Amino acid sequence: MEKLIIHNSLTNKKEEFKPLNPPFAGLYVCGPTVYGEAHLGHARPSITFDLLFRYLMHLGYKVRYVRNITDVGHLENDADDGEDKIGKKARLEQVEPMEIVQLYTNSYHKNMEQLNTLAPNIEPTASGHIIEQIEIIKKIIDNGYAYVIDGSVYFDVEKYNKKYNYGKLSGRKLEDMFSNTRELEGQDEKKNPFDFALWKNASPEHIMKWNSPWGEGFPGWHAECTAMGIKYLGDEFDIHGGGMDLLFPHHECEIAQSTAALGKETVKYWMHNNMITINGKKMGKSLGNFITLNELFSGNHKILKQAYSPMTIRFFILQAHYRSTLNFSNEALQASEKGLDRLMKGYENIKKLNPSNDNTINAGELKDKCYGAMNEDLNSPLVIAHLFDGLKIINSVESGKEKIDEKNLNILKTVYENFLFNILGLKNETDNTDNKDSVFNDVVDLLLKLRQNAKNNKDFASSDYIRDELGKLGIIIKDKKDGAEWEM
Ligand code: ZN
Repeated sequence: MEKLIIHNSLTNKKEEFKPLNPPFAGLYVCGPTVYGEAHLGHARPSITFDLLFRYLMHLGYKVRYVRNITDVGHLENDADDGEDKIGKKARLEQVEPMEIVQLYTNSYHKNMEQLNTLAPNIEPTASGHIIEQIEIIKKIIDNGYAYVIDGSVYFDVEKYNKKYNYGKLSGRKLEDMFSNTRELEGQDEKKNPFDFALWKNASPEHIMKWNSPWGEGFPGWHAECTAMGIKYLGDEFDIHGGGMDLLFPHHECEIAQSTAALGKETVKYWMHNNMITINGKKMGKSLGNFITLNELFSGNHKILKQAYSPMTIRFFILQAHYRSTLNFSNEALQASEKGLDRLMKGYENIKKLNPSNDNTINAGELKDKCYGAMNEDLNSPLVIAHLFDGLKIINSVESGKEKIDEKNLNILKTVYENFLFNILGLKNETDNTDNKDSVFNDVVDLLLKLRQNAKNNKDFASSDYIRDELGKLGIIIKDKKDGAEWEM
């Protein structure tokens, strides 16, 4: 198996990926909070971890990819106070919270399919795992790292930090957090302002609430990923991923929760994708540059000069390394659109090349370079650069400057098929006949050839039979001088 190097946010180093139980690989990625349409900020983590998921499978790992849906417990401003994001939307629109959840889960799935990201193996919801979350919280209380006040349960960060290291992922120090947050203390019922909620007591008007040993309430946002990660991937699993914006507090709190509950580290590798900026600015509703994926695909937003196809967006995101920031602009997207078109045409040209007996091309070199780039922390921009270089090979064979034999031609074809389609997950959007349609067309063409053969052999019974039977199916054959055409 290829030696895959990935960046581990926990050690802040690149490390060789060594799964706990090869050939199995466990991957948990924080999914969306479903209270609005998916936007650009959702596209990058989903594509980054789709790339990882695809590559691990390509390398032969049996991957269990879990990506959750947050449908309860994520309060405004990622804080422990304020309204539940989904509950608020439901209140404003006067519908059931689960109608909001269903609507935006469906639209998220549709957008992810448009971006050609593979569905995870398990997609658990927070509301479907209240019991598991309560069990984890009970363990944390039993181990002495949480306290109950008025029906709410809070994680005791200071106590935890005496034995373990709170801040090990984000590099933050508790002393600094202390001095930064002290003035915010007010009527807060928490012992310390940086303690976080594991369970919140629900006020009478709060809609989404469940019974618990501490009264009616709902789980804190961080509890779900700990509970579901452990449930589906075990006490110890390989990779946990998400956007860098989740590193603190969400993932830091997840580490604290699982360590406090189990007395050991759950996740071996933490991976984070960097953020997207738009024309150099952070995306935000107040800045007027908040773009949903549907707006990008339709071009229906004042800062967009045109519509951008899902594959243009995917290709654009893959043209940057997942750990670097990525700036969206019309110019950059237009360049991606052209670049992707060139690669797709290049692949079509490979299919037309005829092998010769002589060979001056070393296609194995291109293959090694592509694997080398992927193995170096999923360096997709470098893979793409190598695939562009490969186009030069194709051009020089086409023009007769170089010669390629069958063996090298097959390697070349496989490199593009594997990297362009299977690993980078791109597809040819200009080929708008869907696969079934094109198979159907080929089958009818095949029947017409058989009919022509029958005619040539003066077997008119067979040729008439094919014509009549196709006619019954609504396929009309029109004989021309040089063969036949058909229409439906
Ligand atoms: Zn999460």
